[in-house]
Amino acid sequence: MSRVAIITGGTRGIGKAISIMLKAADYQVAAIYAHNDQAAEKFGAETGIAVFKVDVSDYADCENGIAKIETALGFIDVLVNNAGITRDGTLQRLSKQSWQEVIDTNLGSCFNMCHAVIDGMRERRFGRIVNIGSINGQAGQYGQVNYAAAKSGIHGFTKALAQEGASRGVTVNAVAPGYVNTDMVAAVPDNILAKIIAKIPVGRLGTPEDIARGVMFLVSDEAGFVTGSTMSINGGQHMY
Ligand code: NAP
Repeated sequence: MSRVAIITGGTRGIGKAISIMLKAADYQVAAIYAHNDQAAEKFGAETGIAVFKVDVSDYADCENGIAKIETALGFIDVLVNNAGITRDGTLQRLSKQSWQEVIDTNLGSCFNMCHAVIDGMRERRFGRIVNIGSINGQAGQYGQVNYAAAKSGIHGFTKALAQEGASRGVTVNAVAPGYVNTDMVAAVPDNILAKIIAKIPVGRLGTPEDIARGVMFLVSDEAGFVTGSTMSINGGQHMY
């Protein structure tokens, strides 16, 4: 029977590529999104992938969303915590709201979603959890204390949960993308983007598929000996 996979932020950008690759590999996929109904409907119609509206920053919404997905598709084998947002600004200019939204959406979501699936994975002695971090969680970035703190937190969360899941067949890993050509990076002004690309040794932005291929390995049944690791996929921009 094919495995059931949830991808948060699975309807756009990197998550969209992961959802599509998993479906092509015969997984039953649930793609989660929160706000952009139009993009989600288009994605669902084009791919035939089941789409669920769940705000991953909200604990109760995650519990209810997981219950709905399990009713529709079956028990969860794979969870990819990919949903993320930016609210950039230097610390002096950063509002409490921008701090909290980024922490809750990027890091709180990992707690909310993992908490809702971990019992079932442990009971069934199989689980694959992949958390999407960032080069900017590894190296820091000017104007991103909120985002860098959240992404850096993901790497600690991953290593701790990996230790808890290891004896029960549940692996937990992180992927740290560099700069990838999605809507998130489209928000970066052209002059700054040109400077960023100049610092990437392979000489280009990543594609969503570059990241999805790494996730595909980590969620596979064959990757059972890989846990607590961070896979950096960044064109050589930061060697960590
Ligand atoms: P994106 O194109 O902006 O897409 C973000 C996705 O997350 C969308 O599907 C969005 O849903 C969903 N989302 C946002 N807030 C949510 C919430 N509260 N609940 C549920 N879903 C929510 O982003 P991306 O560039 O593909 O980035 C994906 C992940 O990779 C993020 O964690 C990001 O931090 C990380 N990353 C990206 C880059 C990069 O260069 N792009 C680099 C390093 C790390 P809606 O459509 O409803 O808004």
